[in-house]
Amino acid sequence: LTSPQEQDHIFRSTLPLNPIVVPPKGLTLHGYVLDNIEDYLHRIALIDSSNGRHYTYGQVQLLTKNIQAGLWNQFGIRKGDVVIVLLPNIAEYFIFVLGIISIGAIYSGSNPAAHESEIQRQAENSGAKLVITDLKTYKKVEALGLPVVVMGEDVSDGSYCYLSLFEADGSQAPTVDISEHDVCALPYSSGTTGVSKGVMITHRNIVANLNQTLADIERAYRGGVIPDDESVVLGLMPFFHIYGICGICCAAMRLKGKVVVMARYNFQEFLDILLKYEITFAPIVPPILLQLVKKDLGENFDRSKLKLKSILTAAAPLGIELQRAFEAKFPGVEVQQAYGLTEYSCVTVSHCSPIHGRGPSKPGSVGFILPGLEVKFVDPNTGLSLPANTPGEIFVRGESTMKGYFKNPAATAATIDFEGWLHTGDIGYIDNDGDVFIVERMKELIKYKGFQVPPAELEAVLISHPAVADAAVIPIPDEEAGEIPGACVVLKPDCFISPSEIQAFVASKVSTYKQVRHVEFLASIPKSSSGKILRRVLKEQIVKD
Ligand code: AMP
Repeated sequence: LTSPQEQDHIFRSTLPLNPIVVPPKGLTLHGYVLDNIEDYLHRIALIDSSNGRHYTYGQVQLLTKNIQAGLWNQFGIRKGDVVIVLLPNIAEYFIFVLGIISIGAIYSGSNPAAHESEIQRQAENSGAKLVITDLKTYKKVEALGLPVVVMGEDVSDGSYCYLSLFEADGSQAPTVDISEHDVCALPYSSGTTGVSKGVMITHRNIVANLNQTLADIERAYRGGVIPDDESVVLGLMPFFHIYGICGICCAAMRLKGKVVVMARYNFQEFLDILLKYEITFAPIVPPILLQLVKKDLGENFDRSKLKLKSILTAAAPLGIELQRAFEAKFPGVEVQQAYGLTEYSCVTVSHCSPIHGRGPSKPGSVGFILPGLEVKFVDPNTGLSLPANTPGEIFVRGESTMKGYFKNPAATAATIDFEGWLHTGDIGYIDNDGDVFIVERMKELIKYKGFQVPPAELEAVLISHPAVADAAVIPIPDEEAGEIPGACVVLKPDCFISPSEIQAFVASKVSTYKQVRHVEFLASIPKSSSGKILRRVLKEQIVKD
């Protein structure tokens, strides 16, 4: 007999696992996303807001075939090979991804703003066979010694050309046998600790996640069927991140909506695009919501043209006051939240009201548990799962758990336990109505405007400075960015260096969003007896000061 305390408190969606939620076995991601495409060949799938270049579903289908043939015949890409896509959000991005995964190869997105050394690490770690990039970023990959596809300016008509990959050369790629359990994507994430690692995501992982999420969206907005009136989705979240590629590209194209692609955030352009393209659904991050609340929309913002039905925030916490302020300024626009992580292929908990037979999820909550997912809240000290209303580390178990970290069984074992629970490193709780709330992040990860900043990477850079004896990097709360990386530095005896010199040193070695924005000098870094940095102690010390 077990005592009640030893029983697991496992929480699930109230929605039964029916065929709407559980997709049939054997589907590939591209098959799932392009399903029914024959009925939508003339509909616009992707449009680039920077220049109006656009592709219909028919063109997407055709160009995907050209890319398959180009990858297979010109570059010898085969099943299981990794192709890095190092591009900003452009209309063609997702077509490259479809071409890559539909020959059984693996898509690994990388931030074009990343530092050369970061891209090199990803290329080496993933064993990439090819990089697809643009002229602006080409210099960063020149030295890798890998074949590179560079998109260049076509002087003949002034438009871009995508080298031969986009052009039909009469050849075709053979049909490749792809299992739903084959890896199709390899995004990089630091997880709960350490440096960035390749996250092996399978076709099934994403298909299941999309289906569980879209079941909600379809029901909420479309009565369970794909509508005649298209949904117009803003494609601003980076496509190299799981949020952009799954939450936006895959989801919108599965529903045969239109993605309006935006490469870089700018407040005024954001407003212009909302109106010009009649965006109905805008997935964003909390710092953008903050600007929408705080900034003047300007005289030219014609509200009567606003078609926005809902805005989704994910990737970082959204304060309840901010949500209320947004709702007051944009009446009629629903604020949805989603909570997810790369290691679960995108979403775990989200706002999805009708399924639960009640109104929207409560303000401040991240929503309801997705159907098909099991969730536990575990006491970090005892390892016991906790009842409702009691915060604990969120463990999730379901079909979208990554296959593991690439070539890193130790990190995989530290993240997915022997019962299949994925440890998220986030603290949260569920209330009696099934609303889930995130309380804090327990893991090391810092999120600057929703971007991952792994402290271990910055600590390695800091320690490489000749004047630095020891260092630790912690998140410092910041209204605009959510969090900023703060460095605690111990100098070597008789070494003197200013905070700005430290900042400049780090800045020369990492992406802009990873830069250290605050420096504190300490006599020593507090550590446990096993040598682990006591980040909580540091946070309390620094943030309180
Ligand atoms: P990533 O793998 O880059 O998507 O980062 C995942 C992490 O972002 C999660 O483990 C959380 O720490 C954080 N996160 C994602 N969504 C939310 C949310 N809605 N509220 C609070 N934190 C979030």
